[in-house]
Amino acid sequence: MSKIKIAELFYSIQGEGRYMGVPSVFLRTFGCNFKCAGFGMPRGETSFEAVDIAAKHTMIEPFQKYEDLPLVSTGCDSYASWMPEFKDLSPMLTSDAIADRICEIIPHNEWRDEHLVITGGEPLLGWQRAYPDLLDNPKMGGLREITFETNGTQKLTPEFKEYLRQWTASGNDGLWTREITFSVSAKLPCSGEKWEEAILPEVVREYEQVGTAYLKFVIATEQDFKDAECAIGAYRAAGFKGHVYLMPVGGVESVYALNNRTVADLAMKNGLRYSDRLQVPLFKNEWGT
Ligand code: SF4
Repeated sequence: MSKIKIAELFYSIQGEGRYMGVPSVFLRTFGCNFKCAGFGMPRGETSFEAVDIAAKHTMIEPFQKYEDLPLVSTGCDSYASWMPEFKDLSPMLTSDAIADRICEIIPHNEWRDEHLVITGGEPLLGWQRAYPDLLDNPKMGGLREITFETNGTQKLTPEFKEYLRQWTASGNDGLWTREITFSVSAKLPCSGEKWEEAILPEVVREYEQVGTAYLKFVIATEQDFKDAECAIGAYRAAGFKGHVYLMPVGGVESVYALNNRTVADLAMKNGLRYSDRLQVPLFKNEWGT
């Protein structure tokens, strides 16, 4: 039976993108190919907030659970889902144990209109081989909609691509259909990641072959928007057809509130979609929300 290293598994409201407002189970896998230490920093500078927290965790006083971890205002706001220093907080669970836990945390202990968000870290790293076991578990039978929240750099394996096609087709009973969505948060230079490693239009084009894919850009400054325009041009040139969202930067309320209105105005002015971060005003973006 397959196992997945789980950073978090919780029930909340989806705060971003296409399914904003939909009750959702969040399965946060461990591991990422990026660091995104540039978020919220002056261009070219690196945030050390998460590094300092990791040093405290390993050398001074270990945190016992995710909910105890401090929030950061710069860098990756889900740092503990990929930094090796926090791997002790993320158990390796069998697909049966994950399905059991999901049924415990959704109301009525069965799927109704809830959707499953598989997030990270980067959920399309090695775990692609483990998802079929989980999704084939009888307790996952009532699930209709899945979103992969990805940074858009990981190709689908041929086996997983075929599995997703079959999963979608098998749920079409005339009343309901199943849907797969790829919410692609492509990383602009403000993240600190390199353009040539982060903007991979051919990878995202491939997601469109098995589901709906959309792009979501985190914007803090005018320069970020110029970068987003450039990236959108590259995705469109490769044939990408999906929607594009602009989303304000800000894992904490003080930062988010600084530019959400500006980003909404930019989206309107340019015929793009605006994505809020409902989890920030609703739940203060705490771990487990
Ligand atoms: S891709 Fe996402 S999870 Fe990975 S470091 Fe960047 S913001 Fe964090």
